[in-house]
Order: sequence, then C-alpha cells, then structure tokens
Amino acid sequence: MQNTFRNYINGRWETGVTTATSENPSDLASPVGDYVRGDREQAELAIRAAAEAAPSWAFTTPQRRADALDQIGSEILARKDELGELLAREEGKPLPESVGEVARAGNIFKFFAGEALRTGGEKVASVRPGVEVDITREPVGVVGIIAPWNFPFAIPAWKIAPALAYGNTVVFKPAELVPACGWALSEIISRAGLPAGAFNLVNGSGRQVGQAIVESRLVDAVTFTGSEATGAQVLKATAERGAKVQLEMGGKNPLVVLADADLDQAVECAVQGAFYSTGQRCTASSRLIVEAPVHDAFVAKMRERTRALKVGHALARDTQIGPVASRAQLEQNLAYIAIGREEGAELVTGGELIQAPTPGHYMSPALFLGQREHRIAREEIFGPVAVVIRADHYEQALALANDTPYGLCAGICTTSLKHATHFKRHVQAGMVMVNLPTAGVDYHVPFGGRKASSHGPREQGRYAAEFYTTVKTAYTCA
Ligand code: NDP
Repeated sequence: MQNTFRNYINGRWETGVTTATSENPSDLASPVGDYVRGDREQAELAIRAAAEAAPSWAFTTPQRRADALDQIGSEILARKDELGELLAREEGKPLPESVGEVARAGNIFKFFAGEALRTGGEKVASVRPGVEVDITREPVGVVGIIAPWNFPFAIPAWKIAPALAYGNTVVFKPAELVPACGWALSEIISRAGLPAGAFNLVNGSGRQVGQAIVESRLVDAVTFTGSEATGAQVLKATAERGAKVQLEMGGKNPLVVLADADLDQAVECAVQGAFYSTGQRCTASSRLIVEAPVHDAFVAKMRERTRALKVGHALARDTQIGPVASRAQLEQNLAYIAIGREEGAELVTGGELIQAPTPGHYMSPALFLGQREHRIAREEIFGPVAVVIRADHYEQALALANDTPYGLCAGICTTSLKHATHFKRHVQAGMVMVNLPTAGVDYHVPFGGRKASSHGPREQGRYAAEFYTTVKTAYTCA
C-alpha cells in the first residue's frame, strides 16, 4: 500500500479528518491506495488561498508561466509509462490507452506553455480623434475545476493548463473514483515553482468539496465535466451568484454507416467508438445508424468483432476492453441491458458479467438491434452498450442522428464526398468525424458540443482563451 494521497492547499500537503480507499476495478483485492477525503472546510481553505494568490499570479511574466507549464508537460511525458500504469490501475483503462491519455495530458501542458507566450490583444482605431483603443485579455481570477473519472489525466490537464497559462489560480477537485491520478498530476504541478496558493488540490465528494467550490463567491469561474444532472446543479448555483461557467456533459453520439462505406473500416470505427475505454467516453458511439442495404452484413461483422474483443485486467498485455470503472456504473449498464430487452430490443451479443482471474467489474460489450424510441437508444448509459438502428436512406439516417437531446460528437462512414460534406454541415454536434471513430483526439483543437451536451465556451486549443480570460477595452487620449 502506498502512502496516503494528501491534499495540496496553499503550497502544503495536508492531511484531513477522514480517509478513504481508492479501488482497482481490475482487481478489487489490490486497491490503489488511501486518500485524504477533504471536506467543505478544506475546500474553503483552498479557495481562500487561491483568491489570495490570484493578483500576484495574474501579473507574473508569461515566461514564468510558460516555463512552469513546460516543466509540468515534460515530466508527464517522461513518466508516461509509470503514470499510465497508475491510470490503468485506478480507472481500469487498458494500459496502451492509459499511456496514450497521459501523453496527451503532457502535450496539453506543452501546448499551453506556448499559449502563455502568445496571449495578445488588439489595437483598434477609435472613432474619435486623438484616442487609442486597446483590447486585451486578462485572467478571470480563481477557477474551480470539477473533473469526472473517465479521463483522469487528460480532462484535468485541459482545464488546469489553460487556467494557469492565462494567469488564473486553481482549485482542482478530481472525481472520487480517481484520487490517486489527481494526486499524481498535482504532485508534479506542486514542484513547478508556482507561488503558494496558485494551484490547490482537494480530493473529496461532490457534495462537500464540489458544492463548496460551486457556491463560493471567491470562485470567479467554474469549469465542470460530468453528468447532465450534476451540470444542471452547477449551472443553477453559478448563475445565482453570476459566476462564469463552462459545462461539458453527456452524449448519445451517432455513427452513421452508409451503403457505400468501406464496411471493414466502418466496423472498426464502430467497435472502437462504441466499446474502447469500456464505452466510458462522453464521445462514445452508442447509436450505430446503418443504411438498409448493408445493415445485415454490418451486424454480422460487428457481432463477430465484438465477440472477439478480449475483456480483462487493464494491465494485461492482450486486454482490449478493461473492466467497468465502478460497481455503480456496472449496475447501471446491466440495468440498461435489462431495460433494452424488456422494451423489445434484440440483444445480438454480450451484456453479461465475466468471471476473470482477479475479482473486478468485468462485463462483455453488448450489441443490440433497436429502434429510435428505445431507452437504450435515447439515454446515455456510459458503458460498453451500443444499439444498431436501421435507416432506409441517408436523409433518414441524418434525421435519426439529430434525434437526440445531445450534440457532442457524430460520425459518418461513407465514400461519398457529397454525403460527407452534407453531414458535416447538417449534423447537430460540436465535433464530426468522417471515416473515424467518434473521439476528440487532437489536443490542440476545440473540444465540446451543442444542445444538452455543453454549455459555455469550448475547451482545448486556442478557443480555451474565451473561458479562461476576460476582455478589457482601454481608451487612451494621447
Ligand atoms: P458526475 O456528474 O457524477 O461527477 C462529475 C464531477 O462532479 C465529480 O468530480 C463529482 O464528484 C462532482 N460532483 C458531484 N456532485 C456534485 C455537486 N453537487 N456539486 C459539484 N460537484 C459535484 O459525473 P461522472 O464523474 O460520473 O462522469 C460521468 C459523466 O460525465 C457522464 O455523464 C459523461 O457523459 C460525462 N462526461 C462528459 C464529458 C464531456 O466532455 N462532455 C467527458 C467525460 C465525461 P464525486 O464523483 O467525487 O462525487
């Protein structure tokens, strides 16, 4: 057992009143370690520290911010195998995917190291003689970061890095399922030469630590990724006190397969998009909308590929699909499989518990044939469960793709330039993939959605400046 993972508040590692154990979903007999479970009081200490550090960090030189972020990114990249192993153990993502996620986190810090130097402004001609107008971007102040468990390195990285790059101070609350990953990232940040209070970590529950962040008048902006239900609460609380807010929430992402698609490529996109990361991606292709002429052939190939997927321990060499991250999520997946059957959807394969050599939350990926009105085709499950829906033609496939309250990511497999172009323009989603799995992979471009999936400015890339800065217009009479 490792040492207890502590909280980082005002430049010091702090113990707390209670501790809890972080599980390993691949092997419940070998937990990851104990962590300090912060409470509302600790969150408020961290918020006050961030508020006190805000003025000085806001006026540090861009060089200092760039150097700190570059150092953090370099260390993450240098230790990607070791950190990837920690991620695999704590979240259950297979090792190669985990290492890839950690590398992405490192690259995000490197990218924003550059952005710290590139923060600029505009000089605009005034309508009045002798007057100059400057438009500049300034930090917002204290940023509260509330992260989910499914990408425990990449999502915190794409929030923390721009927050610090643009001169904000941070209070970071990881999800309770992944405290060790949050701690490991914070430990690296704690050695990057930031002033005390500029970055704070408080592990603990959403109800205690999360709500304290959301409700505090000292927190100027809240960035949240998680479920729609929690997002709605965050939106209400921040709106009441007029704080800036950004929400990334769920998805029910469609992958359209047209009759002219390369079928093997389409099946590969569907398998990866629906089942990799155990389907625990907000961008997962949970609805596979297939044009009638290739429907049966697609389903036959999907059945074969899905059955052949190797489910196992996240650290095992041959594992393609890791365990479900928690018992609660596993129960939710199984409940939806029962709902799908009750409502008349046909289970083609999977959806069963798997006994593995180590005790963990293992299930086989489930493939259904269903209809647009089935709950499994409408509600986010957040597990390895996909439903194939037949479409008579492209127009119907597009209508089905848009028939959802969500709008995060959408994909199409086709060799038709005409349909690909039309789909890119008309699908209601923040991200669109053509002949690729639905996943927002590139770390230097905007990530986010529309409709019920997102609220507020985009994350990642240069577009992140919209949330992490506020604009000042200055008039000078020379
Ligand atoms: P939750 O909404 O349960 O939790 C997200 C975060 O919010 C956690 O840190 C949680 O803390 C915290 N939280 C819970 N309650 C409150 C509260 N009342 N006030 C403030 N914070 C609170 O989501 P999950 O972690 O279960 O993540 C899965 C969901 O996230 C899925 O719906 C998925 O679609 C979505 N998601 C969206 C992404 C996107 O970019 N669009 C990316 C990844 C996930 P704790 O867990 O510690 O209690």
